[in-house]
Amino acid sequence: MTGPDPVIQARNLGRSYLSAGVVALSGVSLTMHAGEVVAVTGPSGSGKTTLLNLLGLLDSPDDGEIELNGQSASGLKEGTATRLRAQSIGFVFQEAHLVGAKSALENVALGLRYAGIPRRRRVAGAKVALESVGLADRILALPKELSSGERQRAAFARATAHNPPLLLCDEPTGNLDMENTRILSGHIDAAAGTGTCVVVATHDPTVADAATRIVSLMDGRVVQDVPTRVQQWKAAKPREAGISSPGLGERLMDLIEDVRGGLGRRVGSSFLTGVSTFLGVGVLVFAAALTSTTAAEVARDFDLLGATTVEVVATDSAPVSVVDDSAWAQLRALPGVVHAGLLQLLGDKTVSTASGLPTASRSHVVGVSGIGEDGVEALGLEIEGSSFSRFDHLAGTSIALVGQVLATSLEDPIASGSMILIGGRSLRVVGTINDAARHAELLLQVVVPVAAGTRLWPRSLSESRVVLQTEVGAPPIVAEEAIAILAKSSTNRPTALYAPEASNLRREVTGRVDTLVLLVTVSLLATGAVAIAAATTSSVYHRRSEIGLRRAIGASRIQIAALFLAESSVIGTVAALVGLAVALGLFLVVSTANEWTPVIDSKVLALSPIAGLLVGLLGGAWPARQAASIDPARALRT
Ligand code: ADP
Ligand code: MG
Repeated sequence: MTGPDPVIQARNLGRSYLSAGVVALSGVSLTMHAGEVVAVTGPSGSGKTTLLNLLGLLDSPDDGEIELNGQSASGLKEGTATRLRAQSIGFVFQEAHLVGAKSALENVALGLRYAGIPRRRRVAGAKVALESVGLADRILALPKELSSGERQRAAFARATAHNPPLLLCDEPTGNLDMENTRILSGHIDAAAGTGTCVVVATHDPTVADAATRIVSLMDGRVVQDVPTRVQQWKAAKPREAGISSPGLGERLMDLIEDVRGGLGRRVGSSFLTGVSTFLGVGVLVFAAALTSTTAAEVARDFDLLGATTVEVVATDSAPVSVVDDSAWAQLRALPGVVHAGLLQLLGDKTVSTASGLPTASRSHVVGVSGIGEDGVEALGLEIEGSSFSRFDHLAGTSIALVGQVLATSLEDPIASGSMILIGGRSLRVVGTINDAARHAELLLQVVVPVAAGTRLWPRSLSESRVVLQTEVGAPPIVAEEAIAILAKSSTNRPTALYAPEASNLRREVTGRVDTLVLLVTVSLLATGAVAIAAATTSSVYHRRSEIGLRRAIGASRIQIAALFLAESSVIGTVAALVGLAVALGLFLVVSTANEWTPVIDSKVLALSPIAGLLVGLLGGAWPARQAASIDPARALRT
């Protein structure tokens, strides 16, 4: 046969369905050219659809080969075959397979998108295609608002908008009445008139009569191949101009549009799908905020209670024997040390006011302690009256401070400036200790300068302590250093006493709460992922034919997977963001009611949407994989 180069050439095609033991096609050879309308006829089950699927690269033959525009289609990589199909072939099926959520215009634009036409040219191109099939005034209608004839014309516009050299129609008028069949047949004829090679599988005499050639199949074999009129040879169509591989930005915009369209029409069910994720993130955020806030409150109280004190004692209650001047200098020079002073326990002694004789009713046995220089500050004593001077410490002046409780509980109260007898020694009271937060026992005692104690009661010393006032967070390190310094001058190894530091406490409290909350959160988020997986699986199932159609007109597997992953991750992320917002709002209300200063870890804020995204991706992964592996040839068989 002479004439121009063929658009498509099939040589000796064979296709069997082994599982069903069916030979659907065998030994089929056909050559088809630009401008031809080839009607493929034959009884149901004769192999028409199988042949069109092979010609359309939706399925691969077991035998033989296909050449499209002179290029062999055998052994093409999936991606290459998809691109070749998208750009060179248009499909029309018995069902229109329009995406229900998209308008006629958007459906046609979808075809242009997969054919590789840039966004800015799609609307104009789609309008032209819809106008050419007489739908100019229905471009914004949704598929459900169109008649079956109009739907099929919209599908035809989608198949031809990118001007493919090959148009494959599988029983395109199967669902149409006479009038609509005639109209569609006219559009097929017009497409051939512009140089498209049309292959149309049909039972319909109207369509077959309009064909330039009839190929009859029987049991998968060509039994007749006859022209119905003299073929007017046309030049093969040049490839559509402006087809390109879209950039990442363009793909992203397309994806966003798809997701918006997909989710926008089922806001209600998407919300239900996201409930567990919403709750999971909400619980996590609320609990984390509660934990960090209460930990901060506790830590503050705790700091006030003396988590900044270190006391070093020699073991076995033996005195920290000699703390010489150089040791004091070293202790005071330690980083984190604010005050350092000595506290000595001098045991119990009889105390009586000097105004009367020490009678049974007026004398009391009370504890006596000595404090060294800087001891008032180191112990955090609050003094009314005067304190001990540096001279008093050096000289061992016979003066005393009296605990406020002791001073007022005697029937003969002790006033500042008065003289008292302690263990038979006379001392002048210079002040009262009104508060001793960390050594409340001093409120019941008499306190004298260390030097006075040593001079007046040389054998009474029962224990010495070095008391260090530190900065917040310093105790553990100060304790270690202080022990090292004091061990040099002590026969016994000293031990340090200090309350656990507040941040340790915070960590401990946080850790305990975290375990429980984390358990609840993880369960809720796992449920969230399962819910998203279930909803996405159902969505994939319901959109099977849409997936098949998208694949047929040029979507890659990855694009299909991305569509469902994007939907599921949007559900997860949005649910998490809503959970975050609700939990924060609720927590602010609770904090205000309790007069707390809310403390919220910025990590929690950042992690919430990430957790939602992960839940969405996790839930969407398997269904997306399923969607991507759908075989378009099977999905489109109705
Ligand atoms: P037609 O389109 O002419 O009705 P088909 O190409 O659909 O014919 O089918 C050809 C033969 O292949 C039929 O016998 C059909 O039952 C069989 N067939 C089609 N698809 C499958 C399949 N996926 N698995 C098993 N058999 C199939
Ligand atoms: Mg069929």
